[in-house]
Amino acid sequence: MPEGHSVHRLARGLHRSFAGTEVRTSSPQGRFSSGAEILDATLLERAGAWGKHLFMEFERDEVVHVHLGLYGTFVKARPPVPEPRGALRLRLENDEWYADLRGPTACDLVGPDGRDAIIARLGPDPLRRDADPAKARRRITGSRAPIGTLLMDQSVIAGIGNIYRAELLYRHGVSPFREGREVEPEVVDAMWDDLVVLMKDGVRRGRIVTVDPDDRGALADLDTDRPASDDPGLDGGEDTPTLRRRRRETGVYVYRRSGRTCLRCGSIVADQEWGGRRLFWCPGCQI
Ligand SMILES: [Zn+2]
Repeated sequence: MPEGHSVHRLARGLHRSFAGTEVRTSSPQGRFSSGAEILDATLLERAGAWGKHLFMEFERDEVVHVHLGLYGTFVKARPPVPEPRGALRLRLENDEWYADLRGPTACDLVGPDGRDAIIARLGPDPLRRDADPAKARRRITGSRAPIGTLLMDQSVIAGIGNIYRAELLYRHGVSPFREGREVEPEVVDAMWDDLVVLMKDGVRRGRIVTVDPDDRGALADLDTDRPASDDPGLDGGEDTPTLRRRRRETGVYVYRRSGRTCLRCGSIVADQEWGGRRLFWCPGCQI
């Protein structure tokens, strides 16, 4: 699932390429035909994101809401525009660009009220200048739910996914199982500030890097010495120069590093299935 940084990056790209132009819209797959017909040749005013939700605002108060979900993609490219193939939900075109949306969980015309209703259910988004971190602090420090659950709850903070959750908790030495109300308010505030920096960096790079520059060399050495055994998604347990480089580039402390050594305390990074997602943490230094 894309985390907030990638949806913001996508929104900015769409805004740069399509805002201020009349956009030709179509739904070759047919599932968004009526919406595409209404929008066709309408001026796109702006594209923006709130958490993992993308909003494209057209003239005449038309708003398209897109949520990519687990499998959705929205890919922008220069013409020539290829023949539509497969489940192409929405194609945007102007004279200089086209963008193809496939497999989203949501792609709907919602209007301004619909957009506001969706946003009203979301917590503050660290990537938005109008975000109010006090809302997130109140939700977290007033809750008996584990902080690891709260951080994934989009109504608490919008945009965090599994990687930022794991890395943020590690960076602040907080166990995912600690109750929200047991996390000191100043730690919550520090986590928010950290998140703003990390996610902005994620937007810039187009990928998540949470390892401080001073730690990168040591972490890469650790991973070179100890091939992963429980990491089929990333490297299938193999250990080749390419995979070692990929791990280094991944730039994370604990996410998908279970079975490897924690850089800070030397414990073995743990993982378990939790609420339908895999949780990664260091039992040694996250308390
Ligand atoms: Zn540790």
